[in-house]
Amino acid sequence: MENCIFCKIIDQEIPSYKIYEDEKVYAFLDISQATKGHTLVVPKQHVTDIFEYDDTLAADVFARIPKIARAIEKAFPEMDGLNILNNNKELAYQSVFHSHIHLVPRYSKNDDFSIHFGNHTDQQTPEEMQAIADKIKEQVK
Ligand code: 5GP
Ligand code: ZN
Repeated sequence: MENCIFCKIIDQEIPSYKIYEDEKVYAFLDISQATKGHTLVVPKQHVTDIFEYDDTLAADVFARIPKIARAIEKAFPEMDGLNILNNNKELAYQSVFHSHIHLVPRYSKNDDFSIHFGNHTDQQTPEEMQAIADKIKEQVK
């Protein structure tokens, strides 16, 4: 897609620190490394976010994640964990609108990455939980 920075990276119009490429995905270092080895895996097909994936594309992309994760782990055996993150839409911190999966190796509790779920203040009654589950369940196709 025109004017998409990740499409340009895939097409080699913009340089990147490539880690892996095949016919379906392109993986490269995030330009701002949250931690050493912070990697982005992107589908070569331009999709904006998770809501645009079909089953085949999802299978193609997510099938590649474990081997890239293992490669990062082998490259940096001192790492002690890995967060896999996918932001969708601006409110959820998506800033590049070509879908991508972040692989963030973790080295210590004090490294420059955290996920904060807050104080879980949106607690629901059991009846409300059932109603929420039912509402979503009805929409699973
Ligand atoms: P998001 O915030 O959309 O989940 O993540 C987008 C990521 O893309 C950010 O972590 C940002 O550092 C990275 N990024 C943005 N522009 C470029 C670029 O031109 N090259 C690379 N390698 N990463 C980029
Ligand atoms: Zn794109």
